[in-house]
Amino acid sequence: MTHDPVPPSPRRPAWDATAELTTAAEQATKDRIFLLTRPRGTWAVPKYLDPTITGFALCGPEGEQRIGELSGRRRLPVVADLAHYEKSAASPETPMLFPETLFGRDGFFDDMRARANSAIFTPTAYVEAGEPAALKAVRAAAQDVARTDVVVVVPLDVTWLRDNKIDQLIAILKAIPHPIALVLGGQYNPTDSYADIMRNLRRVYQEVGRVGPWRTDPVTALDAMAQGGMFAGIGSSGSLRHLVPPGQPTKITKRFKPSVFIPELLHFFRADTLTERWANADPLSCWCTVCAGRGLDRFDSYDTAVDTEARAHNAASWSALWAQMRALPTGIERQRWLAERIRLAHLAYEAENERIQQANAFKPSKTLQRLAKLAEGAPSSVIEGAGTPAP
Ligand SMILES: [Zn+2]
Repeated sequence: MTHDPVPPSPRRPAWDATAELTTAAEQATKDRIFLLTRPRGTWAVPKYLDPTITGFALCGPEGEQRIGELSGRRRLPVVADLAHYEKSAASPETPMLFPETLFGRDGFFDDMRARANSAIFTPTAYVEAGEPAALKAVRAAAQDVARTDVVVVVPLDVTWLRDNKIDQLIAILKAIPHPIALVLGGQYNPTDSYADIMRNLRRVYQEVGRVGPWRTDPVTALDAMAQGGMFAGIGSSGSLRHLVPPGQPTKITKRFKPSVFIPELLHFFRADTLTERWANADPLSCWCTVCAGRGLDRFDSYDTAVDTEARAHNAASWSALWAQMRALPTGIERQRWLAERIRLAHLAYEAENERIQQANAFKPSKTLQRLAKLAEGAPSSVIEGAGTPAP
């Protein structure tokens, strides 16, 4: 189970690792974190996105049309992920769902390139658990693409990241000669589901070398950017941070109040949960460009304008973290910086529970707990000149 040798394929274009920095797909994605949103109701690239370190993505089939209509789309890289994997499972015969056009796949690629002048994301279907033939068909379809402005979307069941599958997954991904947007599917938060996921994701970033986690949350995105990930995509809503596999009922169906990112805790909480927790205490406040010191208790509403502002706060606050990390020139410094943030976040949960005098009111996610454990073994700052020491 540790080997999945790639058969030599005459169709596979030669991949020159030294040339990779020059491709259009890399230029559009490398060292950027994208904000993912639904095309419906989206007519402009949000102004709070920093054009030097972020990108913007439309998720869903309407993105194909909308991407050419967005105002501000020349300000930073904008991509359309048609997200057919939300509805369709990949088969060995049909790993990607290209529209039926007169001009075939290249017609689709050319059209998308003309609309966005950015990287083109493949319309890949969802790879279920234990379907290596479907995953290999995605690889073969990717190998058929000879142009260099394409990012291959690989949406798959989170169990592909488990210890008994990870070697096979890495071998298959290595043979894809394009940047890869990796989407993990599962109920709730897929990275919470098994203890080995975060560790194995790091292996994927490092061993494949051109992978970005897509449709994820800030902590997983920042971990990728410290551990050799090429780019990342953070959802503006819960359904764009966690992919429920096609055909499975979503366990999160009720209409919700906005989810609010709390930078100190590196996590999202529902606005009504925050109201409840802070009923007898001052709310935490936020110094992002949107909040400017205002309290984080102001999003407890079904009003669309409030939801829009909550999303703006969320993106502005993770962007600020990303700006700090991105200013660090090496992976090791990023790792050290993030390890310290995670250590402080872990402590902040207890401090916040104590402040509001409610034991266990705020609990770190499993992903954060595991990252905190991994951070204990992170590069220490005994190296001279290092900043804040991580114990
Ligand atoms: Zn804020």
